[in-house]
Amino acid sequence: MDALLELRDVSKVYGGGMFGRTSTIALETMSLTIFDGKPTVTVVAGESGSGKTTLANLLLGIVEPTTGRIMYRGKDLTETSAAERMIFRRDVQVIFQDPFESYNPFHKVDRVLRAPIRKFRRARTEDDAKKLISGALEMVGLRPEDTLGRFPHELSGGQRQRIMMARALVLQPRIIIADEPVSMVDASLRATILESLLRLNRELGISLIYITHDLTTAYQVGDSAIILYQGIVAESGSVDLVIKNPKHPYTQQLVDSIPLADPDLRWGRNTAATATDEDTGIVHTGCKFVRRCPHAMAECSERRPPIYRTEARHGVACFLYRESPALASAELERLLKDASHPGLANIESPMMDVNR
Ligand code: SF4
Repeated sequence: MDALLELRDVSKVYGGGMFGRTSTIALETMSLTIFDGKPTVTVVAGESGSGKTTLANLLLGIVEPTTGRIMYRGKDLTETSAAERMIFRRDVQVIFQDPFESYNPFHKVDRVLRAPIRKFRRARTEDDAKKLISGALEMVGLRPEDTLGRFPHELSGGQRQRIMMARALVLQPRIIIADEPVSMVDASLRATILESLLRLNRELGISLIYITHDLTTAYQVGDSAIILYQGIVAESGSVDLVIKNPKHPYTQQLVDSIPLADPDLRWGRNTAATATDEDTGIVHTGCKFVRRCPHAMAECSERRPPIYRTEARHGVACFLYRESPALASAELERLLKDASHPGLANIESPMMDVNR
């Protein structure tokens, strides 16, 4: 299987020189591969400051890595021609957290959907453009007659987010990066929007990279999960193993903090509330979680733990698992391959049910 989009040992450092004390390491030695021909749903989960946004910007080619390479169809993004860059920008689409921010309030929905078709020349005739738009709207559960001709403020938050999905869809992308797509949507609408996203994956073969701070929705949509902590991969593998049987002390704390009773409470709040500034300060040497970890040992402050492969589809960056084989960063994709998600309909979630 050929690689579609690849991150190879990518780090992103802002200011102050590479890994210097005055620099901010937003992402450290990250590798990730999305393969052609096998549409997947890869979840990237973490609290704020974990590197999620940097990762999304790197995947979209908006920022360049400090070290490492980002490849699309085998070619480094920094070496692509203008035509190849255009194909990359068409094939890799994004859905942002706040659909309202993505709109010009003076443009009707029609214009929002037509603009990318024109820019990327996806239709030869007016009829072709209309068919593309109608098909995309219907695919995300909207009726063209209810949405076309309207302004963004005339639509609900859920409808606006679906229009953004349709906008990505008219380009017939290969990958959609969904960056917190339901975090600003009412709890009652989250499940239906996630279901629409999964339809794009299952029925149109689009790979999704679902970026979230919310482990509940991560579990519900993901095939595989990557847990980021301060720019490093703390744990990764099949979503079932990572979230139902977390091994990294950080992931364990996160899963323990998921509220069961109140669907409006989101993952991570409880832990954030108990972690002090001193606990969460940047750690330059050793395990980044050492200040918050109840199992910290002397070794944890001395060097960064590698990812230990505890099971075929499960890796943990923690010395507690040093008996397992260590993986190089480039081998991480082996943990994510061939995982599959249980789907929204028949899920047995260990956590709250967003359908309520
Ligand atoms: Fe805790 Fe050490 Fe494991 Fe880091 S490597 S999570 S400090 S036990």
